[in-house]
Amino acid sequence: RKYQKFALIIGVTGIVGNSLAEILPLHDTPGGPWKVYGVARRPRPPWNADYPIDYIQCDITDPEQTQSKLAPLMDLTHLFYVTWANCATEPENCETNGKMFTNVLNAVIPNAPNLQHICLQTGRKHYIGSFEAILAKKMVHDPPFHEDLPRLDSPNFYYTLEDILFKQVGKKEGLTWSVHRPGVIFGFSPYSMMNILTSLCVYAAICKHEGAPLKFPGTKEAWNSYSDASDADLIAEHQIWAAVDPIARNEAFNISNGDVFKWKHLWSLLAEQFEVENGGFWEDEEGKRSLVEMMKDKGGVWDEIVKEKGILGTKLEEVGGWWFVDIVLSNEGMLDVMNKSKEHGFLGFRNSKSCFVSWIDKIKCSKIVP
Ligand code: NDP
Repeated sequence: RKYQKFALIIGVTGIVGNSLAEILPLHDTPGGPWKVYGVARRPRPPWNADYPIDYIQCDITDPEQTQSKLAPLMDLTHLFYVTWANCATEPENCETNGKMFTNVLNAVIPNAPNLQHICLQTGRKHYIGSFEAILAKKMVHDPPFHEDLPRLDSPNFYYTLEDILFKQVGKKEGLTWSVHRPGVIFGFSPYSMMNILTSLCVYAAICKHEGAPLKFPGTKEAWNSYSDASDADLIAEHQIWAAVDPIARNEAFNISNGDVFKWKHLWSLLAEQFEVENGGFWEDEEGKRSLVEMMKDKGGVWDEIVKEKGILGTKLEEVGGWWFVDIVLSNEGMLDVMNKSKEHGFLGFRNSKSCFVSWIDKIKCSKIVP
């Protein structure tokens, strides 16, 4: 097969990495045919194994390993950076994530003479601040967020990554970049550090198993307000668009589904999918609950479900990202706008309710949950 482009996905088993791994090799993907390499630390999982890509196990926190595994990929034309490390504080996030990205760029840029474009995925915390800043209720921009808003005055590893990107692309003539800023991602990956849908599916399966109603653990604001989401396949399409369309070069773009929803409406869909009673919002004085707290003794229950239902053998802490759900469902939705992407010619969108249900279906079909 004669390839037109050669892609390297860093984080190929992640929530967007897995979508890129599925979409890039398809025969009708723009810019193709693509030859695809993908990097992650763990061995290749079964749910990623059918994609025709070259899987490379490499820990990008290690500069020597990154050089030895990635420098030989001399045919690369495109880099998709869809990974991160979650550290205890934001200054540590800046340092660790900055080093990881630098290790990759140092291995790829000097050794791939045909490298044309780098897609960097960051996210909406560009506008609302790091998790640390969110929890400390530091000032955020007034939504809806657009790409021209100035940076916030607090450490943020997204800013570190952007600055490294801008500096490094300047070293090679003709090399271009794009930055992609999703909100909460709806997608599939049991290896993702932040997968709200898998976590909610696990929570619903536990409620069902215990005969308890499915209660919404978030705040009244989150339950009632307009929210939005970013479909993982749509983000992959957005990155591929920016990788091949010259109009998107050297720009940062929001990427969300283009519609709004209310969690109270998605909640009834979730209850339906797991045939569990919709317990609605906690109307008592305590209001919001913490899933971190509620789930801390449920490891044994999950082991029972795994055994009884014959699903993939996972541990609760692997599939339940409770800290992330607690953060997302504690605030009213903070929306972005997709005008810049549309004005530049990207008209992709998703129906958030339909994609909520279809990702749940995929999570079930892959036997992550019953
Ligand atoms: P995920 O957590 O879904 O995936 C991470 C991927 O990177 C996995 O394939 C993982 O596999 C791999 N990986 C992790 N560490 C290393 C390492 N040291 N060396 C090599 N591979 C590694 O990533 P996301 O898509 O969620 O995150 C990408 C960006 O998107 C981040 O900046 C995040 O903040 C942002 N974002 C995410 C949102 C979400 O809802 N998930 C929402 C908005 C923004 P393995 O562990 O096997 O190495």
